[in-house]
Amino acid sequence: MSSIEVGDFRVTLVRAGSYWWDGGTFFGVVPKTLWAKSQPVDELNLIEAGFNCFVIEDAVHRILVETGGGVRHDERAKERMKTPDPPRLREVLSAHGFDPASFDLVINTHLHWDHAGGNTVDEGGGVVPALPNARFLTQRAELEHARERHPRDAVSYRPVNYEPLIESGRMYLLDGDSEVLPGLELIVTPGHNRSMMIVVLRSKGVTWCHFADLIQFAANITPTWVSGFDLYPLEGIDNKTRLLTQAAAEDWWCSFGHDPACAFGKIEVQEGKWRLKERLA
Ligand SMILES: [Zn+2]
Repeated sequence: MSSIEVGDFRVTLVRAGSYWWDGGTFFGVVPKTLWAKSQPVDELNLIEAGFNCFVIEDAVHRILVETGGGVRHDERAKERMKTPDPPRLREVLSAHGFDPASFDLVINTHLHWDHAGGNTVDEGGGVVPALPNARFLTQRAELEHARERHPRDAVSYRPVNYEPLIESGRMYLLDGDSEVLPGLELIVTPGHNRSMMIVVLRSKGVTWCHFADLIQFAANITPTWVSGFDLYPLEGIDNKTRLLTQAAAEDWWCSFGHDPACAFGKIEVQEGKWRLKERLA
């Protein structure tokens, strides 16, 4: 189990399994000869992508960032993603020593299925929150975009992951940046899509930033290595350059949406080359 101390907080990676997806989609226009050096590729050109979720705790709060991909996949999808028996979020949390009932809050950086897929479970003939006592947070504009069902990305949004929470009043919608509690900020950072939030935690001089899908793998820290999924790649490059420059200068711990081998990393840039100088698996 991989954890870091961020001042008064502890942050722990809880990986809700992984899936395999076409490698090129994560690296956009970057040639395979370059990105394949860091990501092992199978015979179908798939690479492994983790469902990286994080638990943030202090003396009184327990917060989950992202809920993974969930279990509602048909047989073909499970075979394609090489995940025949996807793990259940509650079981993953319990296996890490976290009682699902002990969470106050869930942060969905955005509502794509691979970040909000564990939000709800089918139980007693209905759909209920996977974490029975938690409030859920996301951006209002993200929900509105999800409901537009634009042909480009409608497939990424599954209403069962959020509409029941909206209906029951369990999901709270933010209008822009938000300080959830002192030191914990959610910052709208366009690139992957319009309204995705990064998570920035600061306490006693230490900073942790979860880049979610602004930076999906550690290999994507080169700012121009944007994902083919991104709706706003130029804005993404600008935001990555600004944030990664700050992360390197201030020695932040950084986390990424889908890297299956990196829980936390620190970044350096030398002569235009970006790399991890330290990594916790
Ligand atoms: Zn994602």
